[in-house]
Amino acid sequence: QGLFAALTPQAPDPLLSLIALYREDARPEKIDLGVGVYRDEAGHTPIMRAMKAAERKLVDEQPTKSYLGPEGDVGFVALSARLAMGPQAEGLIGVQTPGGTGALRLAAALVQSARPGGTVWLGAPSWPIHAPIFESAGLKVCSYRHYDPATGALAFEDILEALGQASAGDVFLIHGCCHNPSGADPDAGQWAEIARLTAERGVVPLIDLAYQGLGEGLDEDAAGARLVVAAVDEALVAYSCDKNFGLYRERTGALFVKAAGSIDATRSNLHALARYMWSMPPDHGAAAARIILETPALAADWRMELDTVRERLNAVRQALAAAHPRLAPLGGQKGMFSLLPLTPDQVIAIRKDHAVYMAGSGRINIAGLTLESVPRFVQAFDAVLS
Ligand code: PLP
Repeated sequence: QGLFAALTPQAPDPLLSLIALYREDARPEKIDLGVGVYRDEAGHTPIMRAMKAAERKLVDEQPTKSYLGPEGDVGFVALSARLAMGPQAEGLIGVQTPGGTGALRLAAALVQSARPGGTVWLGAPSWPIHAPIFESAGLKVCSYRHYDPATGALAFEDILEALGQASAGDVFLIHGCCHNPSGADPDAGQWAEIARLTAERGVVPLIDLAYQGLGEGLDEDAAGARLVVAAVDEALVAYSCDKNFGLYRERTGALFVKAAGSIDATRSNLHALARYMWSMPPDHGAAAARIILETPALAADWRMELDTVRERLNAVRQALAAAHPRLAPLGGQKGMFSLLPLTPDQVIAIRKDHAVYMAGSGRINIAGLTLESVPRFVQAFDAVLS
């Protein structure tokens, strides 16, 4: 028997099969609410203006492609830390990573090194890749309810209960903003309570900040994360630039760590673990994002374009919320995703009968809609409900 005979086939990513189905659908009115990338009114995922300009500058002026260290582009790390965490960025260790996924995987490896088999608390539902990232690093995942489908709101009491049950040194994952898949984020008072309890319990927050700027604004979207990190001695922030800079395939992100009295040991462990996993992160996206952040005119243009992205998402959200009573909760949710109150059969029916494509969970990508397509979508939604 060969080595690989022991392997069992893994299920393909269901969203990828949805893309294929959508592509084959000949109905011109079809609507794709599946894959989680931003789309403009015309259905395109654009390269942002400032990004194009920064990439041109990079191509013209980059002097070498020689190796960097495992921490990546240190200018990018410092500027993205400041963008995410504000002034307290100064006290954090930063390492550039291959996207937010790489940041989460490095965080998992660091926790596994510090506490083999340690526990990560994860709200349900969550981004489906979270649990396997932690489990494949050897950590244990404990689940609690994040979201109440009956109200479309945060299951705040459940979050507090989970924090109450967690032991000192457990890791507690929190989506920084624009929760994927529910769009249900804590409000300011709830963030304050989470920060207080996290500190009181000695729990180590792992903030997954993958959509900064797509909810209410760059600083507004990071406010909760900043509050929690400020309240504790030890924290992890997995940061992605793949959505807010439109970089997706360039795999651009960073892990920021607050390490109390163990700064040097933590930094050297992060560098070693990164070295064993990917040696150093891909450069291009981070170098281009650094050029934007260090060039005031490009930074201003980037912020302006990000404003239009956010405003478009919010306009579609409000239109959905106003169009149908069962969609009303979407008005109070944030970011690119929401969960519709549909059964798996209704999700199949809306695809087969109305050419509306979404994940089996009923998660929709708000950016797949426009103000023009909302009425048709709402009609289809109403039809499969009855
Ligand atoms: N965290 C969440 C909640 C996400 O939704 C995603 C991407 O979909 C990521 C992290 C990973 O982002 P990246 O593409 O930068 O790896």
